[in-house]
Amino acid sequence: MKLINIAHPEQSVSFAQAVVIGLGRGQGLFFPEHLRPMANIPGLLEKDFISRSTEILGYLTGNSLPKDSLHDCVRQAFDFPVKLTRVGSGDGGRVHALELFHGPSLAFKDFGARFMAQCLARINAGRRTTILTATSGDTGAAVAQSFYAQAGIDVVVLYPKGKVTPLQEKLFCTLGGNIRTIAIEDDFDACQRLVKQSFDDPRLVKELGLNSANSINIARLLAQTCYYFEAVARLPGGTVPVFSVPCGNFGNVTAGLLAHAIGLPVKRMIAATNRNDTVPRYLRSGKWDPRPTVATLTNAMDISLPNNFPRVLELEHRHGLAMKDLLTSFAITDTQTLDAVRTLDAMGYLADPHSALAWKALDDGLEGDETGVFLCTAHPAKFRETLENALERRIPLPVELQAVADKEILSTEMPADFELLRKYLLT
Ligand SMILES: *Cc1c(COP(=O)(O)O)cnc(C)c1O
Repeated sequence: MKLINIAHPEQSVSFAQAVVIGLGRGQGLFFPEHLRPMANIPGLLEKDFISRSTEILGYLTGNSLPKDSLHDCVRQAFDFPVKLTRVGSGDGGRVHALELFHGPSLAFKDFGARFMAQCLARINAGRRTTILTATSGDTGAAVAQSFYAQAGIDVVVLYPKGKVTPLQEKLFCTLGGNIRTIAIEDDFDACQRLVKQSFDDPRLVKELGLNSANSINIARLLAQTCYYFEAVARLPGGTVPVFSVPCGNFGNVTAGLLAHAIGLPVKRMIAATNRNDTVPRYLRSGKWDPRPTVATLTNAMDISLPNNFPRVLELEHRHGLAMKDLLTSFAITDTQTLDAVRTLDAMGYLADPHSALAWKALDDGLEGDETGVFLCTAHPAKFRETLENALERRIPLPVELQAVADKEILSTEMPADFELLRKYLLT
């Protein structure tokens, strides 16, 4: 399957090329040119997670990597469990939590980042590659953990000093080895600006083999289709679920729509946002009218310019998905999110704020005898302070976090000055 640049469809590349270059001409996103349902979906659903995911990704990548190599990528990337848990006893038990946070960085971003790391290590065998990325917290951890100890790959993560939680910092600034972290004495936007400037510097790009591993990389997106299949495989045979997804950049929900486009039975998708509600307003009014981003409790979703949304539009316009019936979007406030955390806790389910927000949108939107699945994108302990305040009790740390809690932060500190960063990168 060829990938085309959505902004300039005449640019067509293989999966391997798209992974390396990230963005196409004119900042265009890559996306499959044709999408047809896979053959024998019932048979596919009977397979185990790794075999099934290898088949799906082989199909979506046009067998750009040899089958054995792809199988290794998938096995090494997805080496942690996906869990599907029934939530609540009312409603005939028709609500399920799809837990995607059992990987090393305790967030669903591990699926995409780890798969991308495995692909890149094989595609770039021997060539020097530097992953340069900016993070407001979660992405840095997923990227650093994914590329840790990968031969030939150096990682540099920029983050705003003092603006990530102490626990988040421990998850990516204590690794050492091929992972370097820089605390920039400014905000996240400044970090992102420094990354952009670096990519505009031909000498840096060439000498270091720069790659940003950010969430618009097609490898990250494709990897995320696999857990939607896993959810349906675990539900009673013949169930066609409604998925509710907590959305920021809209990569996760795009992956669900993509899974449906290649044959996964999905009744519809709910894209839940926080008060940064550009998309729900767009779907209601047809007007794209982003407003300044506001800070919320679900900070991984504090985005008013969701960078994957052009892919949703592509699914509608090029691939003919009937978005009107398939996709609805609701904004949930912080107050509603905290209420949802408490309601879920009373039902015996501890959810982080992002996952609770998705549950709330599902609870509001589920109709008749529909079965619903809400995606749990972060481990509750990652947002311990918020949960402890909401629930007025202590939240225990999981072993992954206990293990890093006492480690030393290895970061370098730097003002937001491109010349300094450039010097640092070239030495
Ligand atoms: C990144 C993130 C999201 C948003 O996912 P998108 O693919 O950007 O829509 C939701 N929840 C958590 C915990 C995240 O880290």
